[in-house]
Amino acid sequence: MITLDEALARVIAHAQLLRSSTVPLPEALDRVLAEYVVSDVDSPPHDKAMVDGFAVIAADLAGGEATLRIVDEVTAGSLPRCAVERGTTSRIMTGAPLPEGADAVVMVEYSNSASEGAVTLVDADVAPGRHITRRGAVMQRGAVVLSPGTQLRHAQIGLLAEVGKCDVAVIPPPRVAVLATGNELVPYDQFPGAGKLRNSNGPMLCSAVRRAGGVPLDLGIAADDRAVLVGRVREGLETDVLLLSGGVSAGVLDLVPGVLQEMGVREIFHKVALKPGKPLWFGVHEGAVDTGADSSGKPPTLVFGLPGNPVSSLVTFELIVRPAMSVLTGHGPQGLARVTAVLASDFAQRGERDAFYPAKVIENDGERLAEPIAWQGSADLRNLAGADGLIFFPAGDRTHAAGSEVTVLLF
Ligand code: AMP
Ligand code: MG
Repeated sequence: MITLDEALARVIAHAQLLRSSTVPLPEALDRVLAEYVVSDVDSPPHDKAMVDGFAVIAADLAGGEATLRIVDEVTAGSLPRCAVERGTTSRIMTGAPLPEGADAVVMVEYSNSASEGAVTLVDADVAPGRHITRRGAVMQRGAVVLSPGTQLRHAQIGLLAEVGKCDVAVIPPPRVAVLATGNELVPYDQFPGAGKLRNSNGPMLCSAVRRAGGVPLDLGIAADDRAVLVGRVREGLETDVLLLSGGVSAGVLDLVPGVLQEMGVREIFHKVALKPGKPLWFGVHEGAVDTGADSSGKPPTLVFGLPGNPVSSLVTFELIVRPAMSVLTGHGPQGLARVTAVLASDFAQRGERDAFYPAKVIENDGERLAEPIAWQGSADLRNLAGADGLIFFPAGDRTHAAGSEVTVLLF
């Protein structure tokens, strides 16, 4: 059995950046850029006034004050009709192009209208370049403004718009198929008969996928039957990630590892020293699936056999699948946020597996407390639903005393 750290390292080692695709600019938010973007404009496109005021020749205000004849008015979007010469000025608005001859702008706040057609400016601080941005000072046409690997947040979307980038090559969100396995499962919109229970993992994992930035494909429920599993797994192998739940332990109907291997999914590991989540299975599937779809150049499908117990499924998703998904999209292996907290009550950790125990996190007078919840184990979603995160207790026999510092992964 390998450690959690080793399991994560092996998964990350097999996670390859997905192939890029082109999307319209408004859909590029939160994606990772997959191309160099070059500006097709100078910014600003002209020498530009940074304030509302008067375009002047700085030398005219050498004495700190001048009365100048107003020869023009330039607003943003219009062009100057005449040049500024000694003794004259043009009224100018923020963003408007500086008239020829002018080399500074005096803010409108430093003016008082002496008479019709003339203005008195009082500003001791005028030098060439004052309140002007020169053409191309921010970026020049032909310059690379964004590089592959950049996360596209709203500022980058604005910049892409500024340089006229309408269609953008990005790394798409991973498509993640979710297949619940088990003869005992019924769809959640049905009442479970004797010996049956509802498929809670399917909807839970699909929402976890969405939360982690992926596009879920719900493959429903497969019976513990070789032929049924083969058909559904084949569909799932078309995607970037296939998540199965159940059927990976040591029961007589735990057929998943065998079926996956038969279908050419290469096992990387089975079983991790983790509580809950020990039965976790991971493998990769390279190359085409015989369904006719074009899979040339597609990175291998990452295949996870998650344990059937809902909390084990959730924990292994958060610890292993989520970081893998973020590597596929170029974000690096990001998991749940980790914080430190003070343990609120004693906790006895036993055994050679790293443990993650559900906890309520309480902020109290600037102190963050983590209180382990009363919990019935890895099938107990009901009490897990009251938890805010998972406390990490490293492998090894040890009683963690109330008041000690612990790491908590926040949901
Ligand atoms: P298994 O790993 O298939 O032996 O399943 C372990 C436990 O998880 C069993 O009690 C299953 O009934 C339960 N289980 C498996 N799959 C699901 C599911 N999709 N939703 C809820 N419980 C499940
Ligand atoms: Mg089962």
